[in-house]
Amino acid sequence: MLRSALTALALVCSAANLFAATAARSALPEITSLAAVRALGEQEARLGFPVHVRAVVTYFDPASPDLFVQDATAGIWVGWKPDLPEPHVGQLLDLRAVTTVSNFAPELKDASWTVAGTSALPEPRHPSYEEMAGADEDSLWVSVEGTVRQAEYVHPTAHERTLWMDLVIPGGRIDAQIPWRDGWIVPAHLTGSRVRIRGVCGAEFNARDQMTGVVIYVPSLDQVSVLEAAPPEPFAQPAMPIGLLQRYGDRNPIGRRLKLAGIVTAVLPETGFYMADDSGSILVRSRQNHQFEPGDRVEALGFVQLSPARVTLEDAFSRKIASGRPLLPRGVTTEQAASGRFDSELVRIDGLVVGNSHLPNQQALSIQQNGTVFVAAYTHAPRASEIPQPGSSVSVSGVCVDETDVFGRVLSFRILTSPGGVHLLRKPSWWTLTRVLGLTGVLGAALALGFTWVLVLRRRVREQTATIRQQLAEQANLKNAAEAANRAKGEFLANVSHEIRTPMNAVLGFTELLSQTKLTEEQREYLTAVQFSARALMRQLDELLDFSRVEAGSVTLEHTEFSVRECLSRAMGLIAPDAARKSLATALEIAPQVCDRLVGDPYRLQQILLNLLNNAVKFTEAGSIRVSVSVAEATPASELLEFLVEDTGIGIPDEAQRRIFESFQQGDGSTTRKYGGTGLGLAICSRLVALFGGTIWVVSEPGFGSRFCFTARFAHALTNTAAETPADALPGVTQ
Ligand code: ADP
Repeated sequence: MLRSALTALALVCSAANLFAATAARSALPEITSLAAVRALGEQEARLGFPVHVRAVVTYFDPASPDLFVQDATAGIWVGWKPDLPEPHVGQLLDLRAVTTVSNFAPELKDASWTVAGTSALPEPRHPSYEEMAGADEDSLWVSVEGTVRQAEYVHPTAHERTLWMDLVIPGGRIDAQIPWRDGWIVPAHLTGSRVRIRGVCGAEFNARDQMTGVVIYVPSLDQVSVLEAAPPEPFAQPAMPIGLLQRYGDRNPIGRRLKLAGIVTAVLPETGFYMADDSGSILVRSRQNHQFEPGDRVEALGFVQLSPARVTLEDAFSRKIASGRPLLPRGVTTEQAASGRFDSELVRIDGLVVGNSHLPNQQALSIQQNGTVFVAAYTHAPRASEIPQPGSSVSVSGVCVDETDVFGRVLSFRILTSPGGVHLLRKPSWWTLTRVLGLTGVLGAALALGFTWVLVLRRRVREQTATIRQQLAEQANLKNAAEAANRAKGEFLANVSHEIRTPMNAVLGFTELLSQTKLTEEQREYLTAVQFSARALMRQLDELLDFSRVEAGSVTLEHTEFSVRECLSRAMGLIAPDAARKSLATALEIAPQVCDRLVGDPYRLQQILLNLLNNAVKFTEAGSIRVSVSVAEATPASELLEFLVEDTGIGIPDEAQRRIFESFQQGDGSTTRKYGGTGLGLAICSRLVALFGGTIWVVSEPGFGSRFCFTARFAHALTNTAAETPADALPGVTQ
């Protein structure tokens, strides 16, 4: 009957939905039973049907806030806000509200009520676990019997504070929560007791609105009655060796509340802790907020749970017996750790840190040993100095936790490490990848810079080389031009000198002829002057011609066999008249080592000697002129002779000594005025001496005479007779 009415109502609602989705709420029919509300579909409930029911308050907790009411047909959750009055469990409300949906089932909002009186709580239903896990029992007053595995004070959010219980009932496990009253302490006798609880059946949801379990909203401790009390002193029972839990045998530990005793090896906040005794290690899970530390001796009461990976103690209640030193870990390799034999055990593994990760609630290191990488997770928030840099060698101590597949096969393992569990063995090498890359970059940049610099330098060098080449070419051109000009000048001088010589020869010839004719005394005097000047002019022309030929490089030495003595004697003979005229004594000294027969150019040698001798006569007013020759250096094939022409004349000042071997240079201006001359004689001498492979120099002091020296190289003649012709046998030579 009720169901057909609801179906009709649903049809009406669907029609209303179709034709007037935005119809005014007042146009919707009022629902007067909670069963009719709960029968609404999700879309329908959202339309906001007005509801008017008379229902009893079954649960109220302003902290969450949660308010459940139940009428004769069903129970429902009602949205409560602090501006509403606080109802009491057991009050009968004349309730007006509007339908809505927030999870999976319809609920009520915008509630207002009047208290119609007090009512007995509904007769409880006795659903099975499976029934409670379905939607049919949702929000209904139920009675459940089971064993309390844990009873704890919890406050999941800042406002919510509840006494939370975990019960094992036939078919499964459920939670129960009782609004926390100030001044309560957790009733210790509940844990381990068999109890009956009454409350509103509800569901637990996760963040994705998925149902995760059954929860009974128990309005107060009055609704909890102990059917069978737990042993008064649960810790009085003997502790069971941890190792025995994993053994298959007579003493089946499942379902019984057991006591374990051991030493804490790691503490996992919000989860529990690992403990070990002489026989083994185990993870103890507990919602208890304990302050244990590794090394603490503890006792734990709890329920054994088996899984493929490990045996654990669940819903434990534990207490500390004494403090102590942490246990020593057992050194293992990664292969051993991954074998599954060390799960939950305290171990130590050495390795290289290859990375570290920061998860919101956990800091972890990735560590490598022999090619295997595992994770070492800190059970606490480590200080920055506790976290080794990647590349460090470390020794990690902690509890080994295997991750297994459904068959219990080990897939990987982690090490849960407590404070002080990571020991730095060696700091990372300075050569980290980042640094190597950085340095490579810097070196690369430097190389690129260097390369660019080299390129720039090369370009500059090329440019400068081109400039220098161009300058050299220009200089060579200039030099060629200068040489050509010099040659042209030389040729011009030679030509001109030659051209002047021809008529001068005629002048000399005819003056000679004229001198042989009959002349008056006066005419003869004039003619003599003409002859003197003509001869002087001829000499100067000869010098000019000679010099230009030497300059033009057209003078080459002859190689004829000659007598040095003869050559010297002849030169002395030629100046003898002039010397005699000035009453100058002359002397010739020839060292006995000097070979007489030599090969060379006697004419040019004589020219050098005559130049020097003429100068000696010219610049000496009184005294003597001395010529000597000696061997400066001799080889089997040739000898270098050193000639010396010495006078007692006016001498040459120091500064003039350096210039006189250059062409057209004379000692000083007064010399020219007093002695005449062209300044070419010594220039010719120095160039001829160079042709002879020798050098020329002068030693002189003004007022004390001059000493001109030069060397010249001659080859030995095949027929050599030393001192063949004695110098004193020659005419005009005084010794
Ligand atoms: P010049 O035709 O003028 O003599 P030289 O080249 O032969 O040209 O000589 C150059 C100059 O050297 C002379 O003008 C003179 O001043 C100086 N000189 C050369 N020989 C002597 C010497 N024996 N004593 C002093 N002065 C000399």
